[in-house]
Amino acid sequence: MLGKNGPRSLVWEYFEKNEDSNGAPRAKCNYCGSSYAADSSLNGTLSLGAHLKKCKKYPRNLETKQAKIAFQNISKDQITINAWRFAQEGCRKALAKMILVDGLPFSFVEMKGFRHFINVIQPLFRIPSRRTIRRDCFEFFLEEKKNLKLFFKETRLRVCLTTDTWTSIQRINYMCLTAHFIDKNWNLQKRILNFSPISSHKGDDMAIVITKCLLDWGLDKVFTITVDNASSNDTTVKEMSNQFNK
Ligand SMILES: [Zn+2]
Repeated sequence: MLGKNGPRSLVWEYFEKNEDSNGAPRAKCNYCGSSYAADSSLNGTLSLGAHLKKCKKYPRNLETKQAKIAFQNISKDQITINAWRFAQEGCRKALAKMILVDGLPFSFVEMKGFRHFINVIQPLFRIPSRRTIRRDCFEFFLEEKKNLKLFFKETRLRVCLTTDTWTSIQRINYMCLTAHFIDKNWNLQKRILNFSPISSHKGDDMAIVITKCLLDWGLDKVFTITVDNASSNDTTVKEMSNQFNK
């Protein structure tokens, strides 16, 4: 990240540019004030990166195990006090959740503005690369899937299904399968069970994908199936009811 091959701007999150009395460019550490020659044609940014690794005032090099007291607003006029400690893993998970919830591209984590923002609010956080965050997001998905599967298994709910098909600009057919159900507190819930490529929009093919998906989720109690007004869906529904009767 801080090597000479990395984006040039990144190191300047930690150093301030200035000049010595002869007008030669210098870089001053934002944390301890150490100054280095920083002529872009003579000096790379390697020495700046090396300094950060050993800088005694750089937050990432300080003791992080210590718990702190944090004041947290729980409502407009209520504040609680909690023991708080920085945890890299917890922050990474929260970042993956943000990417998923807000539908952001994985490359978001490498954007200059975001990196600057993190560096200001929590310099201890090591921002993962886009490849790492992609892996984190997938793990998050697997964990959520496991939880939902367990939930379906324990509650043995009756679900209402909705299918929607869609063809992408690359001419790939997709099917989205959504389940609606009422939970034990009488709240309407919605979960996307499957969003996967299908070989065609033919009714038989769709029925196979839906059946496979329901088996995978361990769902065998279906109340209704809602489909688009396309004639091929008549076959889907007919084939589905055959499958259930079996
Ligand atoms: Zn320093």
